Amino acid sequence: MNKQRKAVALISGGLDSMLAAKTVMDQGVHVEGINFFTGFCVEGHTHAIRDKDRAKPKRNNSLWVAEQLGIKLHIVDVIEEYKKVLINPKHGYGAHLNPCLDCKIFMVNKAKQWITENGFDFIITGEVIGQRPMSQRKSTMPIVAKESGADDLLLRPLCAKNLPATLPEREGWVDREKLHEITGRSRKPQMAMATQFGITDYAQPAGGCCFLTDKNYSAKLVDLWQAQSSKDYELDDVMLLKVGRHIRPKKHFKLIVAREEGEGRFLQGYQKDFISMNSSSHLGPLVLIDGSPSAEDLYLAASITARYGQGREADQVEVSIMDQDGSERTIRVKPIAAEAMPQEWFI
Ligand code: SF4
Repeated sequence: MNKQRKAVALISGGLDSMLAAKTVMDQGVHVEGINFFTGFCVEGHTHAIRDKDRAKPKRNNSLWVAEQLGIKLHIVDVIEEYKKVLINPKHGYGAHLNPCLDCKIFMVNKAKQWITENGFDFIITGEVIGQRPMSQRKSTMPIVAKESGADDLLLRPLCAKNLPATLPEREGWVDREKLHEITGRSRKPQMAMATQFGITDYAQPAGGCCFLTDKNYSAKLVDLWQAQSSKDYELDDVMLLKVGRHIRPKKHFKLIVAREEGEGRFLQGYQKDFISMNSSSHLGPLVLIDGSPSAEDLYLAASITARYGQGREADQVEVSIMDQDGSERTIRVKPIAAEAMPQEWFI
């Protein structure tokens, strides 16, 4: 009897990786999923925080996909190692700060290490030639395979017939004839395949896999790097860039202003790490002050805080300032006028 082969599928939570895994599972291969947590994932906590995302399911899509497929999912924290990929990508960035090609190479390399350690035979991805301008082109497919070290252990079931046969195909672990030849940006073939498999609910692909493809998010990350004169970051830094309105009146400090209740509650969790403010005489948002503000800067920050509360038209607003150790004081300020806040302050 032939040995049952084992494959690990990179599961992003989107439709393509789901279909790729399903295609191979249907050929009798034992498939498990792997998902890499970089800190930049779109779903999860922002959907849980923002009002505008209320209709979106509060779920981790990769876990959800694994559950739909009935496979085990391994979530691997790569936050530290990923910094090298993001800070200095060999193949550069895409339209924003997304180092997609280096990211793919990194993830497939991690999957290669994983299959070696866990006795699996090959790797599956949901890549499709021509789907993404940076990382999924015909010319980049061999680069990912080679530079990740996966070589022909990397099978892309959705476009395999447009690529040279990999080891799993040549060895008959999977039947190449039952793989696919999808190319291009159209989502129709994937949607048709989903219908065929009876998959009706899946994460919409728009928006990419992570915040790094987002223009506004990338601008905030560039601002952070410029302000600290280094490209290093901690997980909390990149999480906070997803939340609130960011205003930088001076290079050495910025304000993070909660835009709604959910964000306010989220920012409360950081009051032990940052100076925080909110208006005590009028209703207003919680504001964190990131950086090293002087007493004069705090006065300016308080007048901005007052502007975002219901006292914006008042002559004087009381603003309570809380230090990281919980000590509190109140100052009275005049809310800053909108015209006194130049556009460059808004990140
Ligand atoms: S969108 Fe983000 S997670 Fe996806 S390949 Fe690009 S950098 Fe990596």
